[in-house]
Amino acid sequence: MIFRIPEYYRKFRCIADKCRDNCCIGWEIDIDDETADFYRTVKGEFGERLKDSINEGSFILTEDERCPFLSRSGLCDIFTSLGEEHLCQICTDHPRFFEWFGAVKEGGTGMCCEEAARLILSEDMVLTEEVVPDEECDECDEVLYDLLFEARNAVFGILKERPLAEAVSCILGFAEELQIRMDSGEFSLPEDIVCIAPEVPDIPSVIGFYSELEPIDPQWIPFISRLNDKNEGHCPLPGHEIMLKRVAVYFIYRYFMKGVFDGEILSRVKLAVLSTWFIGFIWRKTGSYGDDAAWLAKNYSKEIEYCQENIDALADASYTMPCFSSERLAGMFYE
Ligand code: SF4
Repeated sequence: MIFRIPEYYRKFRCIADKCRDNCCIGWEIDIDDETADFYRTVKGEFGERLKDSINEGSFILTEDERCPFLSRSGLCDIFTSLGEEHLCQICTDHPRFFEWFGAVKEGGTGMCCEEAARLILSEDMVLTEEVVPDEECDECDEVLYDLLFEARNAVFGILKERPLAEAVSCILGFAEELQIRMDSGEFSLPEDIVCIAPEVPDIPSVIGFYSELEPIDPQWIPFISRLNDKNEGHCPLPGHEIMLKRVAVYFIYRYFMKGVFDGEILSRVKLAVLSTWFIGFIWRKTGSYGDDAAWLAKNYSKEIEYCQENIDALADASYTMPCFSSERLAGMFYE
């Protein structure tokens, strides 16, 4: 099968003890059966420690929500004692993500990790393909896959060639038209790209909506409320444009093709647009560039992307809330 990944995927290395928001803190870590079976065979003191630290297939987190094998110096005791090959599947993969489409597997690095976010923001996404052994996966509608693959390339092209605000209007117009066609059983690409005409955005409603989502970090909601207090300007700054296009490409790459499984495209393009805007809004309000910008993009991703409840809420709201109409979303990129 073909394994498609961004070039930067191979450059990713966990920064371990240098990481300021370690993924081994605050998350429940499920252990896959094969690894759990191996852990049961480990003898000696470390074997006893493993036994005492696992319950119902997960590591028992400490009182401060740390994985019991995360040392105070930020290193993983399983990695250092048993070797990298004995990490469970989640720990091996994270922050990488994968999606299977018949004979194609796509992968990437998720923005919820500060080092992955730094990579995503530091270079344009170039996709590469390699042949890997076949893996089992669900059936995939090949006709729809081909259509959406072509459509996604068209969206990448728009984001590459046009200024951000114009590109956003165009990909929203493209997604609206494509969704109409797919809903009526017509599986073809729109011939012309008709950009959405921007309307005056409703920023307070957008921030209000985000403030009601399930928070992962208790500091998140107070943080975005403070941003909202600062009234001056809302649209992305020119100095952030290149990085924001990379954010948009990341979200399109990761979510667009999932439409193969449910025929849903528009809400995923809106997710990409909204996420791009929101991250740009945070950068603008905090005056962030470089590593600080990567850190804040990581925070956004962790709060929104890595909570299925929040992703679902955004998908629903993209159809039901007036502030998320394509016209108003397009307007958010203009002052
Ligand atoms: S969040 Fe990323 S850099 Fe930090 S510990 Fe996890 S994988 Fe490593």
